[in-house]
Amino acid sequence: MNENTNSGPGAAATDTPGGGQMVYCRACGRRIHSSATSCPGCGARQMVADESHRIILPAFLLCLLLGSLGAHRYYVGKIGTGLLMLVTAGGLGIWVLIDLIMILAGSFRDIDGKTLRRWT
Ligand SMILES: [Zn+2]
Repeated sequence: MNENTNSGPGAAATDTPGGGQMVYCRACGRRIHSSATSCPGCGARQMVADESHRIILPAFLLCLLLGSLGAHRYYVGKIGTGLLMLVTAGGLGIWVLIDLIMILAGSFRDIDGKTLRRWT
């Protein structure tokens, strides 16, 4: 008989060795460290700090169909370079092609400097 009840004094306060902050797992609600890429409890993948909440698929489609208008740049919030792309006709197509490759490679960044990594 060495089972404890789960209401000890350590339940509320959680130490965070090495600094950082605790966040809640998106799947199961367990408290995990903010730098964790997956939940140790349920294994669900967590939002990485530099991952954009914007997703690749619409950016890719906009770049493919309306790239020379800078549409994919409006999508990620880059209005300024979007307009620049519009007046230069997508850098004569070269700039659009580069952006398309960046989006496909998962290294296209939004206005906050965060990377678009998820397709859906
Ligand atoms: Zn979890």
